[in-house]
Amino acid sequence: MLARHFGAVILAAMSEESLPFLEAKRPEYFIQLAMREARRAFDVDEVPVGAVVVDRPSGRVIARAHNQRELLQDPTAHAEVLAITQAAAHYHSWRLTDCALFVTLEPCLMCAGAIVMSRIPQVFYAVDDPKAGAHRSVFEVLATSKNHHVPEVGRGFLADESAELLREFFRKKRSKPSNGS
Ligand code: ZN
Repeated sequence: MLARHFGAVILAAMSEESLPFLEAKRPEYFIQLAMREARRAFDVDEVPVGAVVVDRPSGRVIARAHNQRELLQDPTAHAEVLAITQAAAHYHSWRLTDCALFVTLEPCLMCAGAIVMSRIPQVFYAVDDPKAGAHRSVFEVLATSKNHHVPEVGRGFLADESAELLREFFRKKRSKPSNGS
């Protein structure tokens, strides 16, 4: 599964996003990087969602991904899952306790589960997903104290920008109903 994901995941050069300290940057900065990933998805007709994972001690981006469900024909190939897999490979560890995840859309049930399972302590996202969000919109997976791990969640960063990209994507889809990708 690792090899399959990595085959198609874009591993861009990381140096440009090397940062001295995460604290020196506002969440909007990293959500902007996630938006860049979302636009990559948009350009290849994937639902435009992007994610980055940041190493909190160094402030470096150690993983970035966009939704690749169509390309991989894999229902688990959401941006967050792909980014979490990259981050785990970076640390050679499934425990991502030093990380923060930034994503352009409220995580779904599956991704919220992956966030809990990987022990990511901080999650920031752009816009709520009223149809499938699993922080507050439909389910409350990230918020429930029934989980052994409850991340801190921040929301609403660049929400309008992310929502507009998603709207544009679905508008484009509707205008080309027989686009059989
Ligand atoms: Zn998801």
